[in-house]
This record gives sequence, structure tokens and C-alpha cells, in this order.
Amino acid sequence: MTEFELIQTFFTRQQISRADVAAGIGDDAALLQPPPGQQLAVTSDLLVSGVHFFPDADPVALGHKALAVNLSDLAAMGAEPAWFLLNLTLPQVDTAWLEKFCQGMFGLAREYGVQLVGGDTSRGPLAIAIEAHGFVPAGQALRRSGARVGDRVYVTGTLGDAALTLQQRLGRLPLQQNEIASAAARLDRPTPRVREGMALRGLANSAIDVSDGLLADLGHILEMSRVGARIFLDRIPVSPICRAHLKELGWDAVLATGDDYELCFTVPAANIVALEKLPLAGAFHHIGEIEAEAGLRIVDESGKAYRPRETGHDHFAKPKRGNT
Ligand code: ADP
Ligand code: MG
Repeated sequence: MTEFELIQTFFTRQQISRADVAAGIGDDAALLQPPPGQQLAVTSDLLVSGVHFFPDADPVALGHKALAVNLSDLAAMGAEPAWFLLNLTLPQVDTAWLEKFCQGMFGLAREYGVQLVGGDTSRGPLAIAIEAHGFVPAGQALRRSGARVGDRVYVTGTLGDAALTLQQRLGRLPLQQNEIASAAARLDRPTPRVREGMALRGLANSAIDVSDGLLADLGHILEMSRVGARIFLDRIPVSPICRAHLKELGWDAVLATGDDYELCFTVPAANIVALEKLPLAGAFHHIGEIEAEAGLRIVDESGKAYRPRETGHDHFAKPKRGNT
């Protein structure tokens, strides 16, 4: 199969077609028409075999996740996803694998109304880079730098299922079959919180998606906003399965493992009533407060300070040499 045939077979089919795409796949560049008055939010994420996923990972899940992590970044800006590009290196043309990869990727694309408008394809070690574009009304994007003293800190959904699944796959924490299925879905097929992100425009003053763990990601908001925070372990939302295994898993894993793809955001006191009136009520949890003192303080269930040993995932961090 030639490169041209591969693109024709897998990437120009199964497409939704949006009115704002004047030219999609097939020309030298795509021609796209953003709506007037909106800013373009542009993001990309790279998934490398053996680094971000196990080489034998289910291709349906991989297709889903490669797009989901990008939609999650758009959600964290409060943007509405519209288009994406796919850059792919493949060791060989495995049509069964590509069929499944497309099933996962286009399934999610249809759900969110986003159209694949271009990309590049080459032979090489398996790696998937998606670039996604979305719209946000000018000036309304949710930045990391907007948190202020007195704001409440929130997270959507639940944290910890991705950490739980990772520990199970590494053979460190046995789970029952039914638990594995439900926790693994969170790691393998994360739900980008797009509706939540868009609903938070004008209400939240900062947001980030939890891709590297709550400690690291909330840490980015605190640094960029030049504030600190206090959060309470007994308010951190975890799923029933995670709750049942919290003793073996430990709070460190919940707080410092990435891949939850929930949103963490801050809301000023004046907007709390409006926030709680959103039709999404119950989709997010109040976990703490923004404070003037720099740094993140964590309070455990008995009211004492909790000091995590891990702070989040960093690909270029030096190996740790013990706990200090
Ligand atoms: P060029 O040499 O101009 O880069 P290509 O042959 O690489 O052209 O691509 C031809 C068309 O197919 C372009 O519109 C490009 O955006 C699209 N394309 C290539 N690879 C992919 C892919 N993996 N997913 C979606 N579109 C792709
Ligand atoms: Mg090319």
C-alpha cells in the first residue's frame, strides 16, 4: 500500500464534514474559516510507543486517547474543539491495526464534531502526534494565570482510577476483573471535559487539565498565578473502586499520577452561586482554597499536614534518590 492509498483508505473516509472547512485532506494545506470574534486555541500532544503507552496497547483505545488528550487541553482553555491534524509514524502498514485505531479516533471525533483536516504519515517507530484547534470568544479563555487569593479550587469527575490501573498493570496491586474493566476505561479512554470547560467561561478564572497529576498541575496554576493553596484530602473525589483500594494505592499515587484528564479550576467567591446553578452541578467538587502564601498545603483526614513524596510526572526529571 502506498502512502497515498493509506491516507485515502484510512483518513479521508469516515469523516464528518464541517461547514468551516473550505479544504481538508488532499491539498497542500487545509483552508479553515474560524468564526468572527473568536480566538483560535491550538494544542498538540505526542504519544510515543514505550513511553506513553505499552507497545501492545489496544489500537481502538489508542486512537481514542490520542485525540482525547488534545480535546482535554482545549477543554482546559474553555475552547470548543473544531479541527485536528494527525501526524503518524508507523513501523509497517498493519491494516487491521489502522482500522481499529481509526475506529477509536473517529468515534471520539464524531462525538465532539471535530474534523480531521490534514497531517503527515511516515515510516518510523510507532508515534502519534495530534494537533487540535478550537474556538474561544476573544478574551474568555481560561488561563493558568488567573487564580486569586480567596478563590475556591475545584476538580471535575474523580481522580485515581488511572493510577489504580497503572499499578494493576505493573503487577503491584491486584484488582478483580470487574474492577479492572471499569478503572481501565478511565486510563485508556479518558473523557475530555469539553462541555465543562466551555460552561466555565466567565465563571472560572483559571483552569488546567490534570494530565501529570493534581499536585503538578495545580502547582502550575499556583506558579503562573503567583499564589498558594490549601487542599483537603477528604474532599478529593475518587471513584468507589479507588476508594476501596485507597489504602494499598495511597494518596501519593492519586495525587501524583497523571492521566486522569479531569479539569482543575479556580472560581472567585462572586461566581460560586452561578457555578452551582450550572446544569452540570455535581460534575465538580470543591477541594480547597487559594491563599496568599506560596506553595501547596495538603490537609489529611485528621486535619494534619500531609506531605507527599511524589509531586507529579516529568519526562526529564532526574531519577529520585530517596525521600526528603
Ligand atoms: P505533502 O507532501 O504536501 O505533505 P502528503 O502526501 O504528506 O502531502 O499529504 C497529502 C494530504 O494528505 C495532505 O492534505 C495531508 O494533510 C494529508 N495527510 C497526510 N497524512 C495524513 C494523516 N496521517 N492524517 C490526515 N491527513 C493526512
Ligand atoms: Mg507530507
